[in-house]
Amino acid sequence: MRRSFIAGNWKMHKTPAEAKALAEELKAGLAGCGHKILIAPSFTALESVASVVKGSNILLGAQNMATVEQGAHTGETSVLMLKAIGVDAVILGHSERRHVYGETDEMINEKVKLALANGLEAILCVGETLDERESGKAESVVKTQTEAGLKGVSEAELDKVTIAYEPVWAIGTGKTATPDDADQIHKVTRDTVKSLYSEDAAEKMVIQYGGSVKPENAAQLMGMENIDGALVGGASLKADLFLPIAEYDK
Ligand code: PEP
Repeated sequence: MRRSFIAGNWKMHKTPAEAKALAEELKAGLAGCGHKILIAPSFTALESVASVVKGSNILLGAQNMATVEQGAHTGETSVLMLKAIGVDAVILGHSERRHVYGETDEMINEKVKLALANGLEAILCVGETLDERESGKAESVVKTQTEAGLKGVSEAELDKVTIAYEPVWAIGTGKTATPDDADQIHKVTRDTVKSLYSEDAAEKMVIQYGGSVKPENAAQLMGMENIDGALVGGASLKADLFLPIAEYDK
């Protein structure tokens, strides 16, 4: 039985003080929540949020990191820095990183391996664009991104990996994949894990859905056989929206 995993990606929103206030509300609201929960503030708010969630049932996530541990990389953030301030997991390959900042499958794979080597969990994001969906390539794109992202990752390391299927056309647009369409791609993703590793690895892999998840559609999406949680953007910025998603009941 896979444990539901709900993550909030706060993107480039909230000052450290605002982030701390939201983290405090979520910590109070989710104290009895049985799902795995993570919040990912921007880099500048990580420390203030770390001071709130430390010792609670909320994990701390970063939204990105560099491909290497240290060096002359102006503007980048190292896995060592994230670890040092108590980050548990890092979101990698988000569609905004892929499509706005030009991150390639190879770079994302380097980051996944580096996060795991340093004991952090990785949330590997995959998903097709609208053009790719309309030209019938959604399944092959997600399969390729999954294979590339996991290249060189051992089966033993997979318990620290979550895959987030986020159709690019559904992110921040208010459009959501239908539960059946999303489940179909989740199944393709699970089958990809099976062909790369084993049936057992595929069964255990937690695959989140992301793309305009809201309180109204959360339970229906996460009630699907292959959907094990959500990566939430916009609706994670307000406690009254994120709390009901995080506490959804199948
Ligand atoms: C995201 O940024 O990962 C996301 C899914 O955003 P939204 O929920 O706003 O579509």
